[in-house]
Amino acid sequence: MTAPALGFLVLMSLACAPGQLPRSSVRAANPGRAILLDGGDLLKGNPAFPTGTRFLRIIATNDFHGALEPRPDANGIRRGGAAYVAAAIDRARKECEPRCETLLVDAGDLFQGTAASNLSYGRPVVEYYNRMGYAASALGNHEFDWGTDTLRARMRQAKFGIFGANVRYTDGHDVKWIPNDTIVKRGATKIGIIGVSTVTTPTTTRAANVVGLRFDDPAPIVDSIGTALRKRGANFVVVIAHAGASCGIDGATECGGEIIDFARKLTTKVDVVISGHTHTLVNTEVKGIPILQARSSGRAIDVLDLPLRADSKLHVRHDVRELAVDTIQPVPAIDSIVSRAVARVSSLVNRHVVTIPVTLARQGSQYHLGNLIADAQRWAGKGDVAIMNNGGIRTDLRAGEATYGSLFEIQPFGNTLYSLTMRGAQLRGLLEAMLAKKAVDDHVSGLRIRYDPLRPAGSRLVSVTTADGSPLSDTKTYNVIVNDFLATGGEGYNLGGRATASRPLNIVDLDALIDYIMSLPSPITAPTEIRIAPVLR
Ligand SMILES: [Zn+2]
Repeated sequence: MTAPALGFLVLMSLACAPGQLPRSSVRAANPGRAILLDGGDLLKGNPAFPTGTRFLRIIATNDFHGALEPRPDANGIRRGGAAYVAAAIDRARKECEPRCETLLVDAGDLFQGTAASNLSYGRPVVEYYNRMGYAASALGNHEFDWGTDTLRARMRQAKFGIFGANVRYTDGHDVKWIPNDTIVKRGATKIGIIGVSTVTTPTTTRAANVVGLRFDDPAPIVDSIGTALRKRGANFVVVIAHAGASCGIDGATECGGEIIDFARKLTTKVDVVISGHTHTLVNTEVKGIPILQARSSGRAIDVLDLPLRADSKLHVRHDVRELAVDTIQPVPAIDSIVSRAVARVSSLVNRHVVTIPVTLARQGSQYHLGNLIADAQRWAGKGDVAIMNNGGIRTDLRAGEATYGSLFEIQPFGNTLYSLTMRGAQLRGLLEAMLAKKAVDDHVSGLRIRYDPLRPAGSRLVSVTTADGSPLSDTKTYNVIVNDFLATGGEGYNLGGRATASRPLNIVDLDALIDYIMSLPSPITAPTEIRIAPVLR
């Protein structure tokens, strides 16, 4: 295989790339509950089944995004990594034996997101999934990113089906090479599995990759196939859906989005919905149907227990288990798949990008590297303003040669950019929220902000000047570029609630940074001004 040029990576869309964890959700998702073995009381907080109850344990993942190696989250906690996810899955399997049958499924977006996966077009991810014994996966929008030929090659490599029941040719005919459903047997139990893709697929992968295809409303399709599967003897119907939701911090309340709407529309019985695509924590129920999503990039797994007795009145138990690598030992066989994949990309990771004359350190609240990254995002997103959270800037930009790998370590999350449409008054409210913290924890581009930290929170702004030197106008409309972490609620800024409109740009933050610094005259001069400054009095 020929390694694609750097430009290939830069151009790839990555609409639902791995995001940063909101800090508060790490606190809420107690790592003590995390992945720790808990043999007797399998799912704390859920009712225990009576002794002797046999059940089907469904273990599920979603949005792995090629995250073969563990990565630090926004709190610096190393999470995910195939060998560790494998250990968590094995543990979830073993802890319920012999009372359970187990089924391992995924809700899509397997390959796209890291050099180690991307430069092998997802091969090592399928190798890992094969080894783990996945029964099925949903067809994620990013499965199309390298074109249908590559997708079909991965489908041939996979020992499991990759299902998209709502994918049709534009003339309405079913796409034969994309399977819709399957029945798998576990002991005497037959489990019908239906996979569906997000209806937003055409706008979340490059349009050229899905020409001629359409993505229909999955609810009536699932109703119809589910009925057929039960007629064929399925005891359970499981939907694996690359379609998501956003919930409150507990993952259970205030849920809304595509998969919630889907479940509400169903008219036939579905036992479980495994969700993906939004990279969120979802652990809720709609009309009695459990809906789960385990964040992304192997940072969590879904575990769900269905009693096997057909007449059982027992309630289904379900949980999303957080996965921090410190709590588990990696599985050696998977570790070796990862090591080989990582070794193959070392030449890319070592690729020269630019030379940096002076180290740009992360230091204090406002620093030059933060300005540079905010500028890169405003430039890439063609915005009036950009806002970058400091928590997403992971290390210094050191003087000397900047390689793809060293830049990757600065912005390792693969966050994607959003363009938010905000009136000046809405933007002013956002800035007040940023200034209400104990310390300013963001950088801006396209704004100069002066504030009085001694005033009450909510009224600290003294002056806001835009890029052309004019004051921020409450009635004017601005395009504000942020990453998906902020756009989807990160830092508690409620950007979704503040903005008039929100549009994903399919630009990875690292690509924006690399493209931007390569466009600058050499030697690169860092933007040194303090853009968010307190007034002295
Ligand atoms: Zn997706």
